Amino acid sequence: MTKIKDIQTYDELYDQVKTYIPEDELKDISRAYAFAYEHHFGVKRKSGEDYIVHPLNVAYILTSINADSATIEAALLHDVIEDCNVTEEEIEEKFGHEVMILVRGVTKINRLTFKNDSEATIVNHRKIIVGLSEDVRVIIVKLADRLHNMRTLWAIPEDRAKAKAKETLDILTPIAHRLGMSEIKSELEDLSLRYYKPNVYFDIVEKLNKTKVERESLVTEMMREVSSILNEHNIKHEIKGRAKSVYSIYNKLNKGKKFNEIYDLLALRVFVDTKEDCYQALGLIHSKYKPMPKRFKDYIAMPKANMYQSLHTTVFGINGNPFEIQIRTYEMDLVAEKGIASHWSYKEGGKVMQNAMEQKLQFFRSIMELTEEENKSSEFMNAVMNDVLKDSIYVYTPKGDVIELPLGSTPIDFAYRVHSKIGDTMVGAIVNDQIVPLDYKLKENDIVKINTNKNSNGPSKEWIKMAFTTHAKNKIKNFYSKIDKNENLKNGEETLVKEFRRKKLSLSTFLESEDLERVLNEYNMNTLDDFYIAIGAGQLTPTQVINFLTVDKPTKEEIVLSRNIRNAKPTVSKNDISVEGIDEIKVNIAGCCRPIPGDEIIGYISKGYGINIHRMHCPNVSDLEERIIPATWQENIDKRYETGILVRALREKNILVDIVSKTVGSNVIIQNINTMESNEEYLYEITLLTHNVDELKKFMNEIRKISSVFDVERNIK
Ligand code: MN
Repeated sequence: MTKIKDIQTYDELYDQVKTYIPEDELKDISRAYAFAYEHHFGVKRKSGEDYIVHPLNVAYILTSINADSATIEAALLHDVIEDCNVTEEEIEEKFGHEVMILVRGVTKINRLTFKNDSEATIVNHRKIIVGLSEDVRVIIVKLADRLHNMRTLWAIPEDRAKAKAKETLDILTPIAHRLGMSEIKSELEDLSLRYYKPNVYFDIVEKLNKTKVERESLVTEMMREVSSILNEHNIKHEIKGRAKSVYSIYNKLNKGKKFNEIYDLLALRVFVDTKEDCYQALGLIHSKYKPMPKRFKDYIAMPKANMYQSLHTTVFGINGNPFEIQIRTYEMDLVAEKGIASHWSYKEGGKVMQNAMEQKLQFFRSIMELTEEENKSSEFMNAVMNDVLKDSIYVYTPKGDVIELPLGSTPIDFAYRVHSKIGDTMVGAIVNDQIVPLDYKLKENDIVKINTNKNSNGPSKEWIKMAFTTHAKNKIKNFYSKIDKNENLKNGEETLVKEFRRKKLSLSTFLESEDLERVLNEYNMNTLDDFYIAIGAGQLTPTQVINFLTVDKPTKEEIVLSRNIRNAKPTVSKNDISVEGIDEIKVNIAGCCRPIPGDEIIGYISKGYGINIHRMHCPNVSDLEERIIPATWQENIDKRYETGILVRALREKNILVDIVSKTVGSNVIIQNINTMESNEEYLYEITLLTHNVDELKKFMNEIRKISSVFDVERNIK
């Protein structure tokens, strides 16, 4: 592991960036440094250093992966929004949109600093993951930021240091690994282990130190031998000894290995020019040293999911000691060390790298799929941790395509990872030419063949338990909710058709009108299908919908009415009615029975309010004989009086329009219609103006002709 050194001055950074960044972009980097220097001026870190040393080193770490100028500027500026109250606008104005986006991204991730509160942690993790989808450079800056913070972790209290180390191991190193950035990942892992489990860490360091001299002399001798073999065959090469990281040893010890059983403690790496040279070198090495069985891996023909390519073998070398040898080209080595960052393009900023990540890294696609499926932060993070960031195995399709799956996966997970259609039609699985049960736990290098039958009835619900990944579980659940959905859709539509028919309403009219939109809005639905599904699932009844439609809105009928109903206020002319024996007194028409010319009437003497005129049949006056005096209509009254009728109709369809249309060719004017409904009938309470009883009777007869009407009568309140 080559540790990227710490620096103290801007000159050291500048010397590095000018080796690969175009000259015209260097002044922007210097401006960013000056801006950060000025804003952090006078502030010290907990380690006692000037604050500016931190962004300076974050930028320096990024030069090790040849980060572009926007990323270097963003690294220098990454803490100024959070710590110095600089605004996004100011950064955009001074350094451009691209730099601002990156600084904003890092600020967003950092804003939720580590708390013991697990929900905050989950939200924080999710932000890191989502940051990947926005611009992978945001995460790359974040990784460098964390790396420098981890180097000075001794300055913060032990429990916080531990928590930070754990977070790094939980989420940041797995991401660095998936991005293929093994150099940064490896240093982060060792630093994390040192604070997370100091006893274990120092125990391993001590053991390594004890054996260091002996190991180094063995490796040097082996390097010399291998080199001379390759030289004999004119293969241009370089060989380096390879120090094993403390964390990788910890991992192997954790898997139950003993310290002296870890074969790659003696390790070397051979660099050659071409792919062909890799295989030739391998052949030569194997012909001289016996290879250890099952330790050979060809990651050139079958690259790892993070694009890693190399040949791996373990051979019995000097004094029979096992040596792990990796053979790769320089180009492969660049990808192995820098990963996604080896795709840095200076012409197109982060875009090329973003594309490379989206297309080449399986883990990114998995995360994006989960982003679409999972909404709750905690479930999403569980799924990401479980499916994507955990230890994984590589298995193969019969054609040799590599599929990366989390350790613990079954053929069901494999099938759904390849394609959900494969999963849905799976009928069996064959692993390494053997039929296996579907809950078989896949192992590294298994070759998996999925048998499908397109006539299968779909996945079994039992598979949800057998599957390991959230991805596969979700796909199976989706399959079932789709079936339920289809059923509800069908039932919902049928129910609605029936109910509309029963109420003599036109479903097609409803579906074509704005009413549909109103109903969807009212019940928060997007499509007609959602609406049918809600009806089918019983979440909504047709009656609810019909009531909503008829109660709340101005119906077509009401619009017609508003045009036909006029507001004419009738006045009683004293001259129209003669009351026996009385001349100069006020005469009112009673509001309860509202008599009109032609009605038999009587007068009722009210205290202080003159004489009220009622119809003779009016139940409200029958008991008041002593106050009653005879009254009559005059002849030839040419004036409309207000009165009321009640119309009862079967509850088949709303006949408002029909009623109103009967006023055409009649002298009756409708003033108001009040519609009431019960289960069996509609009741229309109509206020109208008419000249006399004959005219009214004609009108009432017309209404009786409407088919569903079964009763029309004068209304007495
Ligand atoms: Mn920072």
